[in-house]
Amino acid sequence: MKRYHTHLIIFSFLAMILFACGKSSKINYVTIGTGGVTGIYYPTGGAIARIINKKRDKYKIRASVESTGGSVYNINAVLSGDLEFGIAQSDRQYQAYYGKAEWTKKGPQKKLRSVFSIHPESVTLIASVKSGIKSIKDLPGKRINLGNPGSGHLQNARDILKSFGIKESSIKAEFVKAVESAGLLQDERIDGYFYTVGHPNGSVKEATSGRVKVRLVSIGGKEIDNMLNKYSYYAKSVIPFSMYPNSANKEDIVTLGVKATLITSSDVSDNIVYAITKEVFDNFAEFKKLHPAYQVLTKKNMLRGLSAPIHKGALKYYREAGLIKYIDKRLLK
Ligand code: GLU
Repeated sequence: MKRYHTHLIIFSFLAMILFACGKSSKINYVTIGTGGVTGIYYPTGGAIARIINKKRDKYKIRASVESTGGSVYNINAVLSGDLEFGIAQSDRQYQAYYGKAEWTKKGPQKKLRSVFSIHPESVTLIASVKSGIKSIKDLPGKRINLGNPGSGHLQNARDILKSFGIKESSIKAEFVKAVESAGLLQDERIDGYFYTVGHPNGSVKEATSGRVKVRLVSIGGKEIDNMLNKYSYYAKSVIPFSMYPNSANKEDIVTLGVKATLITSSDVSDNIVYAITKEVFDNFAEFKKLHPAYQVLTKKNMLRGLSAPIHKGALKYYREAGLIKYIDKRLLK
């Protein structure tokens, strides 16, 4: 009798495990690569995940986010299949798809797909007042964090230095993750840092809230005008100084910017990309409320600034929703 009971218990236990496994195998787990936790990619990944996870029963998708080194890391991880989605700067999306910058040797990344674009990002230079940095021309001899190699902004910093004819070797360049920058600035271990990021964000808030007085530096002049002519993915951008009441700025900061975009790979299934696109667009008002940087978003401008072809799953939704007319023909591959 006792033996019979033991068998029954083991049997029911096994049945429960099998049942659980059978159920969970139907769920598609997707991970969205973001950036440092004080940037905007991280909460953006969270916002997208939250919206799709609400419909877990309908789509059987369970999305989670990963804090990563940023755009370049995300693009490469999506292409290698380590991540299903990633957030990446529009300029980096362009470079990967056409085989430029980091992808020059590897060549065009033809599997890269865009889903939609998100908030605008400004190339931001944050410096201590004490450093005396008021323009790009003041950078030689200064300790500046240009960004980690997986970030999107490292190349923006390099493009800017190049356009001003400043050699990287003439500045004391650091290449650490953006999440550390504000702390390093407050500890006076660097004089400034570059970060291509939406506003307002946690990093600049942290950098401007400490003992060391900090300002955001405008990036302009004929050098930048030349850059805007040369690279179509850069546009002029303004950061309202009122977003950072503790900074030393008394006027808006004029700089250049790009856009954050959601990317994926042609290997990711149409159903998953369709579901994510549909839920974000169908719940647009709710999505917009999730971060102040989304205030400027419209459905139309979320279809601009893309270079890689739009994923088929996303296209299916844009057709259904009548949004296809806003999409550049070259993206309909
Ligand atoms: N633009 C940055 C990058 O590509 C990330 C900005 C953010 O996390 O909001 O690395």
